[in-house]
Amino acid sequence: MTSNKAKLMDGTALAARLLADAKTKVDNIHQSTGVTPTLATVLVGDDPASATYVRMKRKRCEDAGMKSLLLELPQGTGTEELVGEIEKLAADESVHGILVQHPVPAPIDKRTAFEAIPVEKDVDGVTSGTLGRVILGMPGFAACTPKGIMRLLDEYNVELDGSHAVVIGRSPILGRPMASMLINRHATVTLCHSRTRSLPSLVRHADVVIAAVGKPRFVKGGWIKVGATVIDAGYNPGNIGDVDFEGAIEPCSLITPVPGGVGPMTIATLIGQTADAAVQQ
Ligand code: NAP
Repeated sequence: MTSNKAKLMDGTALAARLLADAKTKVDNIHQSTGVTPTLATVLVGDDPASATYVRMKRKRCEDAGMKSLLLELPQGTGTEELVGEIEKLAADESVHGILVQHPVPAPIDKRTAFEAIPVEKDVDGVTSGTLGRVILGMPGFAACTPKGIMRLLDEYNVELDGSHAVVIGRSPILGRPMASMLINRHATVTLCHSRTRSLPSLVRHADVVIAAVGKPRFVKGGWIKVGATVIDAGYNPGNIGDVDFEGAIEPCSLITPVPGGVGPMTIATLIGQTADAAVQQ
């Protein structure tokens, strides 16, 4: 019988290795070209959670030897104004990646703002161009959370080919690209959302469960098939995931803790993609 501790997928440790690799890449770029890879982050409004995420990402950026620019815009900024600022960053050759922190507050049309980011600078993987490439399995950037999850699944040698994966959540930055990445690796994917009927019985058939719902402890331990791999992308106030961890750890074979699972992988993927963007540009 596997001990509960052996079932944990350690995103913190893997992310630290990926960040060290990114730092080596950044140092090499700097030494050979004099260029410092640069991520520009746009933060609109005064949401404290968004400000915390931005601080965390900027810190990791600087740890990896990259430059981090921050553009802060006030609450009430309009779509046109935000698009104008993104276009300036898009034209700036010293900026290699652009991140618009989301959620962006009303009245901004988030999709219009995201689409102003050129695909070659879309290191957060939010544009329709990036999603299209992910769906078609083309090389390039991808939404950071699902890409980080795929890396974690590979690190733990989770068999995807022929497996049944159930993804709960269909957002453009998480559930949808996640489902595409799994399909591209030959999993059979059931993509669930708020209108899905009989969710527990679908999850009961899953070899791999990806919870991306945004509701604390939403996925119950009793839904998990014995031996399944459980990925909890949820990050709710109080460091609580979307999975009932205590209930799920018994039947599962592998599970990501919250915190320390998916979260660090998201940031490491962002940093890695920014380093890659600098290499490509
Ligand atoms: P989102 O845009 O709010 O999407 C949530 C999805 O869950 C929607 O597709 C929604 O369905 C579905 N859903 C809601 N209630 C449901 C129900 N009762 N049954 C089945 N599906 C239901 O959220 P998101 O941006 O994808 O984020 C999801 C979670 O991941 C959140 O906890 C967020 O904090 C976390 N997250 C973590 C990271 C990280 O780095 N760790 C990064 C991004 C997000 P409908 O489409 O039908 O509304």
